Amino acid sequence: MSSSSLSSSLRCFPPPSPSSPNLKNNDLLTHNFNTPLELKQLHARLIKTSTPLSILPLTKVASVCALSPSFSYAHQIFSHLLETPQTSIWNSCLIRFAEGDSPSHALLLFYQMRLFDVLPDTFTCSFVLKACLKLSDVVNGKIIHGIFQKLGFGSNLFLQNMILNLYGLCGEMGDAMLLFEKMPQRDVVTWNIMIAQLVKRGDIDGAYCFFLRMPDKNVRSWTSMISGFVQCGKPKEAIDLFMKLQDEAVRPNEVTFVSVLAACADLGELDLGRSVHEYSTRSGFKRNAEEIYQFWDKLLVKMKHRGYAPKTSVVLLDMEEKEKETFLYRHSEKLAVVFGLMTMPEGTTIRIMKNLRVCEDCHAALKLISGIVNREIIVRDRNRFHCFRGGQCSCRDFW
Ligand SMILES: [Zn+2]
Ligand SMILES: [Zn+2]
Repeated sequence: MSSSSLSSSLRCFPPPSPSSPNLKNNDLLTHNFNTPLELKQLHARLIKTSTPLSILPLTKVASVCALSPSFSYAHQIFSHLLETPQTSIWNSCLIRFAEGDSPSHALLLFYQMRLFDVLPDTFTCSFVLKACLKLSDVVNGKIIHGIFQKLGFGSNLFLQNMILNLYGLCGEMGDAMLLFEKMPQRDVVTWNIMIAQLVKRGDIDGAYCFFLRMPDKNVRSWTSMISGFVQCGKPKEAIDLFMKLQDEAVRPNEVTFVSVLAACADLGELDLGRSVHEYSTRSGFKRNAEEIYQFWDKLLVKMKHRGYAPKTSVVLLDMEEKEKETFLYRHSEKLAVVFGLMTMPEGTTIRIMKNLRVCEDCHAALKLISGIVNREIIVRDRNRFHCFRGGQCSCRDFW
């Protein structure tokens, strides 16, 4: 972490008093710990030099102590320094575990947090469920389901869809059905999970029942069903459904075409196959830059409705205000999210890596976008993970 990002990550705290000796040295030293022991030595040195503890990089303190007996030590430091609950700091470790190679560590940390009464929020629950999904761990999934219901997140659609997906993925279709029927609200993602899981289990009739019941189908619902028919050796049904899709003016995607072409091949329908192929070429699936910018412009209108104002102060170049705005709109993370929204199936998380720290304008923009499109967007920048969802970021703007 550079000193500039350090100072902004500590903006909620009173600045270190100028009288502290060796402040510049301390600034470098405060990042120089990789074990709880080194942290404790640093802590002692800060006390000796009467340097305020707020100089410590808290997310690093959390990550060093998360899975050690020193959890309580970090817990104490946070209780001392923070007025707000320390949930978001531990969440930054949780998401790193859940998104990384050690999802089981996310579970350990979650139970550790419960032990010390750190109150989980919806981000906490989703990160732990993410770990369960990676581990196909339905046992812990059920425990966490119970916990978040007790916490009052029982009607959170995003979390419920995650649980539903977990049950389906682990073959607990009975539990999945039960949950589905009890859900107070469902969205297209909910229905598509059920269809996809039933298709996967070869229950094509069950999947078709859900498909027919579904109030608003999107291209993914149609495509799951069409490719399901192909997989189950019912190419005729697949083609019939593709015809219906065209009647309803749904725009097919690449996967739809591939499935229908497979069905045509199965049936030896050469002419039909040829016309489907022509149709797919006519629909032109090559995304160009112009299409991305148009998508962005539409999104921008909705963002402005929700109070988005481009933070041109972030741009340090000498240009006109309007040019600065356009410059901001072309930041790679914004364009990457737009591209993800255009190409990735609904409901899936959009993940972006960034070598530099994400700028304030992008942070504000991505928060709004996550609410507008109702999608989870995860950005990993140089310092940490940001999980944008429902108009908020898991870092609670503390970065
Ligand atoms: Zn930016
Ligand atoms: Zn953030």
